Amino acid sequence: MSSYQAPIVLIRLALNQAAEIAGARALPGYDDVLTDLAEPILENASRFAGEVLSPLNPVGDRTPSRCEAHGVVTPPGFAAAYRRFCADGWVSLAAPTEHGGQGLPTLISAAVTEMWGGANLSFAMCPELTLGALGAMKVHAPADLVDTYAQHIASGEWATAMCLTEPQAGSDLSTVRTRAERDGEAWRLFGRKVYISWGDHDLTDNIVHFVLARTPDAPPGVKGISLFLVPKKIPGADGALTKNDIDAVSVEHKMGIRASPTCVMVLGEQGGARGWLVGKLHDGLGCMFTMMNHMRLGVGLHSLGLAERSLQLARDYARERLQGRDASGTQRAIIEHADVRRMLLLMKSLTQAARGLAYTAAATLDVAHSSKDPSQRAAATRRADLLTPVVKAWCSDIAVEVASLGVQVHGGMGFVDDAEISQVYRDSRIGPIFEGTNYIQAQDLVGRKVVRDNGRALGELLAEIEKAAGATAPGDAAHSLSPLQSGILDGCAKLRQAAAELVERSAQDHQLIGATAYNFLQWLAILAGGWQLAVSATRARAELDVNKARAVVDVAAFYGAHVLPRASTHEAIVRHGAEAIEEVATADL
Ligand SMILES: Cc1cc2nc3c(=O)[nH]c(=O)nc-3n(C[C@H](O)[C@H](O)[C@H](O)COP(=O)(O)OP(=O)(O)OC[C@H]3O[C@@H](n4cnc5c(N)ncnc54)[C@H](O)[C@@H]3O)c2cc1C
Repeated sequence: MSSYQAPIVLIRLALNQAAEIAGARALPGYDDVLTDLAEPILENASRFAGEVLSPLNPVGDRTPSRCEAHGVVTPPGFAAAYRRFCADGWVSLAAPTEHGGQGLPTLISAAVTEMWGGANLSFAMCPELTLGALGAMKVHAPADLVDTYAQHIASGEWATAMCLTEPQAGSDLSTVRTRAERDGEAWRLFGRKVYISWGDHDLTDNIVHFVLARTPDAPPGVKGISLFLVPKKIPGADGALTKNDIDAVSVEHKMGIRASPTCVMVLGEQGGARGWLVGKLHDGLGCMFTMMNHMRLGVGLHSLGLAERSLQLARDYARERLQGRDASGTQRAIIEHADVRRMLLLMKSLTQAARGLAYTAAATLDVAHSSKDPSQRAAATRRADLLTPVVKAWCSDIAVEVASLGVQVHGGMGFVDDAEISQVYRDSRIGPIFEGTNYIQAQDLVGRKVVRDNGRALGELLAEIEKAAGATAPGDAAHSLSPLQSGILDGCAKLRQAAAELVERSAQDHQLIGATAYNFLQWLAILAGGWQLAVSATRARAELDVNKARAVVDVAAFYGAHVLPRASTHEAIVRHGAEAIEEVATADL
């Protein structure tokens, strides 16, 4: 079975395009990184992903992480791979320089994050938590905590985990019950967290948990939740580590990402887990959102990697599998059948569109963080806020669709455990569920980013999409991009109108956002994906050789014919679908 291979040419094209669209090239040093450093980083990351992480992927599926009396044991090879991952500087790639990180742009980190996810999602989730934690610490943690922990975290020496969910508190975190009681300068925590990814393991000596908990005087609901840093082992002044009162008591048996230990964590069985406040008291959810936003982009990028991996596996299989004959009676590889080509093109066009969108969000974050111009920073922040839920939800949805198509291309072989595509399909299914289900993303998009914003950020994005689509050169007559171009222009006008109606009607109809948000997000994502491919088609002609450019244009044209028409379905549902839900009583379901 072939290993994961990063699609460097397409990644490079998407990196340049994203930097251009986001206006990131003008940031200090950015262009130098893209010109001089990107190539060797991508080559080395591709090698690590293909040679180290990818071969471990099926091992982790067959030998899941397990909980033993002394803690969680990861599959064979994972700990050694993690040590190499840290030593080669992959954990610290985008970590802040003040903590010993390399401080490279989010955009570069996005490309390698895609590779880690495509090669081995279970493994990739562990270091991804690190960057999110550092981001939250940078903004919210007091200096002494940063001094004690950040450097160990940035190097990968200590891992991190995100402890939000409890048995009764999933999407609705207002019901978090874990208790934090004051203990001098610090706190003692008591409670039970479930589904905690990499909550315990043997990759590192220490794990720094970021835990949501409620203090005794806290107001009810989300306004009463605070964020605490709770280490597995507490570092003393001499550097010695002392065990804290937080333990994994079991690991879930799951349909996918079996190597990633999904732990039930118990805090405070022996007098209370020592914790330190991060951010302001009762503002924990806001602080945690800094970490969660990073993870949402991370889920999008990992899902994108899985979509790419599905495409690779399906394409390789379709080239070798012989079924059916041509007119002369010779057996044909299934890749020659029109319907198999349709599936592969659908997989490829969705993946490439998602890559463009996710990388654009990453480059936009770079502008939001680093531009010297406050108005550019503010506009980039608005854009990143708008795109983040779209990237998380759409990339993870299309990863499931693309992996399912990958199984279909494999026929019966795709349903057999030995085929890696079956693992990729199972692994991809978590993306739409965690880091806020995809409905929660859609609700965030429509409720907060569109309705509450009065459509401003959306209007800016649609205007930019229209401008770019209007400038798309149809190229040659045989592969016209005009369906893509006209579909985007038509769709943007309708989406703008529908958004204005939503803003107006949602004030009276409180069910409206819930009933339409999912389809609104899909509609926007499909148009934005088309935008990315339209720009790629134009740029590919200038950046790539004739054959590669031809392939990019073909994929964009395919998207215009096979994916963009889905926008009409979502439009119809956004406009008229809510009543059909309201008319059916819960009792009738
Ligand atoms: C493998 C795995 C790893 C995880 N890792 C972590 C981790 O590291 N840290 C952590 O804290 N958590 C983690 N989680 C938990 C994960 O974030 C939650 O499972 C997720 O947020 C959904 O919560 P829930 O499972 O309680 O589902 P529920 O909230 O019960 O949702 C069930 C369904 O109802 C829908 N729904 C819920 N509320 C509403 C609403 N108001 N309106 C409309 N629809 C609604 C949801 O969209 C979903 O479709 C992980 C979960 C898994 C399975």
